[in-house]
Amino acid sequence: MSSFKHFGEGLLRGLDVTAKHLGRKWITVQYPEQKLVMSQRLRGTDIIWDRSSCISCRACERACPVGCISMAVSRGEDKKLKTDDFTIDFGLCIFCGLCIEACPTGISIYLGYNYANTTYHCSSAKESKTGSTPSDGRCIELVRSNDALLVDDVARPRSGYYRPEVEANLKQQTLLINQTSYLEDLKRKGER
Ligand code: SF4
Ligand code: SF4
Repeated sequence: MSSFKHFGEGLLRGLDVTAKHLGRKWITVQYPEQKLVMSQRLRGTDIIWDRSSCISCRACERACPVGCISMAVSRGEDKKLKTDDFTIDFGLCIFCGLCIEACPTGISIYLGYNYANTTYHCSSAKESKTGSTPSDGRCIELVRSNDALLVDDVARPRSGYYRPEVEANLKQQTLLINQTSYLEDLKRKGER
């Protein structure tokens, strides 16, 4: 008999909690359809390389604590160093930013804003024809080479991490504690 003593109590408590939250503002977003604007100094899981300013010094490669940067450098006809191949294995990278801090030009390598490197397909690096990629079976989809690393300001904005001068061109971070700017942005885009 005593087992029925609290019958329905849990259900009532649950309904009470639901009722209390009905009138409250929401504090979550429907990711991935809705995305928040990250901090201007985000250490994103992305690296952007600017070939035009790179002096092929390999300081970034030496600074990397996990050895995921791989560069092939040679001298051109003008005797200047040039980069023939530049790859980063994002399956190994810990996004510490040391390569960005080591770059002597201060404008050749940046962290980006991407924070989703997941992939549905994972083909072994052993199957790759690219000589500079690792051969221990890690995902080849996570190894990016020259073209994929080059700057594309629209699709891949550069983070202000260690490069505060780029912050002025970046959007303010969305703080859900103050939803105003986020809601206004959604309204502008017709999503709300
Ligand atoms: S962020 Fe760190 S781990 Fe990643 S490539 Fe740069 S130095 Fe290496
Ligand atoms: S440290 Fe900078 S300049 Fe030197 S190779 Fe790396 S990106 Fe290029």
